Amino acid sequence: MGSAAGVEKAAAARIGLTLDEYRKRVNAGEKWCGGCKTWHDRGEFAVDRSRYDGLTAACRNHRSRRSQQLYQPRPRPEKGRRFVPARDGDARQARGRVNYLVDAGLIPDPNELPCVDCGHVYTPEQRRHEYDHHLGYAPEHHEDVEPVCTTCHHAREAERRAA
Ligand SMILES: [Zn+2]
Ligand SMILES: [Zn+2]
Repeated sequence: MGSAAGVEKAAAARIGLTLDEYRKRVNAGEKWCGGCKTWHDRGEFAVDRSRYDGLTAACRNHRSRRSQQLYQPRPRPEKGRRFVPARDGDARQARGRVNYLVDAGLIPDPNELPCVDCGHVYTPEQRRHEYDHHLGYAPEHHEDVEPVCTTCHHAREAERRAA
């Protein structure tokens, strides 16, 4: 089987052995573990007929350790903490984040706060207030906002566009 020899040669090269050195260990009943990066007895590997030597690439121990890690339930973030990391420059995500904080009652509705630029106080007959990402949309600033009235918000945006 030429292909098996090719696989052995590649496997030997990957771990820095000559084909002869590699075969010596294989003939002694050992197999290189791709998980632990060391040699074990062939008996420590599970059967996998799709592999060239009929055994899994990593030993049973390594595979069960690995699956324990994979199946460990991740701790839930505390209330108000994020599931998804903040993406740099993602204005939509940053606005969604702030809307979430308002909906969850973690920060006040911007209508409850005076406009930081003109001092305008919201009433239902008058212009609304919004949160402005005054420091931009870098990940660390997704929650940095100031309440402003829509008039001042537009003025700020025009100013930023001109800058
Ligand atoms: Zn192993
Ligand atoms: Zn204002």
